[in-house]
Amino acid sequence: MMLEFSEYKPKRIVNVHRHVDGPWFWGKYTAHPYVGCRSGCEFCYLRGSRYLGKRDPESFDKLIQVKVNAVDLLAEELLHLEMDVISAGDWQQPAEDRYRLSRGMLEIIHQYGFPLFIVERSPLLARDLDLLVEINNQTWVGVVLSMSNLDSRLKHAFEPHSPGINRRLETMEQLAAAGISVGTSLMPILPIIGDNEYHLEEVIRATKDHGGKFVLAGGLTMDDVQAEHTLQAFSTYDPDAEEKMRQLYSWSIGGKPKFSPPPAYISQLGLLVRELCERHGILDRMPRYIAPGPLAINKRIAERLFLHTYDLELEGGSQYQIWAYRKAAWAVDESSENIADIFISRGESGLREIPGIGKSISAQIGKWLREENSFL
Ligand code: SF4
Repeated sequence: MMLEFSEYKPKRIVNVHRHVDGPWFWGKYTAHPYVGCRSGCEFCYLRGSRYLGKRDPESFDKLIQVKVNAVDLLAEELLHLEMDVISAGDWQQPAEDRYRLSRGMLEIIHQYGFPLFIVERSPLLARDLDLLVEINNQTWVGVVLSMSNLDSRLKHAFEPHSPGINRRLETMEQLAAAGISVGTSLMPILPIIGDNEYHLEEVIRATKDHGGKFVLAGGLTMDDVQAEHTLQAFSTYDPDAEEKMRQLYSWSIGGKPKFSPPPAYISQLGLLVRELCERHGILDRMPRYIAPGPLAINKRIAERLFLHTYDLELEGGSQYQIWAYRKAAWAVDESSENIADIFISRGESGLREIPGIGKSISAQIGKWLREENSFL
């Protein structure tokens, strides 16, 4: 397959998100040097116009746009940003072979002392292990290797050009041996053909066997061009699967699919992954990196609030409850006042002065604060 590169100079490289994406990757910033991906996974959400803009979506895996000024931009922009986790990834071959932009960006992240989170399908990442170890010694590096399953037939049908899964597992082992916090992004779990206990347990067991400490599982979302590609891959793999997929995503012929499968399906899947992770002694969430400092307690309490939103999703909690905890997590995470100081001086009523925190959540936070600080 012919691959083309198109160099350009964007004005910015860092996306600053309004909130950290707890309880998933815990990143506040994202920065990517390439647009498009040669691996061309059928289910990849980056195929959509939201990411490709006006580009022909079918060029996604044939044309790689290269942000040639990525390293300089990162150096300039990090000067003005508060220390927080940067999410990166996309160590693509052959783009990275030619331009070395990911390597350059790592050097800047190291120079400025930011913590780093990486989501990756490519073992090429291990080429920069020296720098990753240095960043990890300085602050923190968390990595997830992405794999939807270990099944070679499914891999071939849905991600024919991505690097082999065994090579990803070897990379996981290398990272774990170097002391880096590593796990699996079990995303997207392919409904109907890849979501049974056998497929899920294979990935979880392999994660454990290769030094991974956690699995982050997520269902398949369907949107725009990516949905069409994904459905086509399902029906090529198994002609009966198309109808079942249409039902799961309420997708009539000529209409549009729902973005996600029904909440009951998501919670059933999450509970099964949780059970399997417990069976194999790993976590089903990635522990958050928390920098030392006066607001570390806020970050810890926010982590617990975010994790509770996930528990509620698995338990079938109401959207009202989930959103209440999510908003409370954002408020605590972004408060400039130490939440333990508030609680010591003004008790639960002080906590309720924080927007979005009501009676039951303030009581819950008070309980957690006592657990986190035995002196309270
Ligand atoms: S490797 Fe990752 S970025 Fe590339 S197509 Fe596959 S899912 Fe998308």
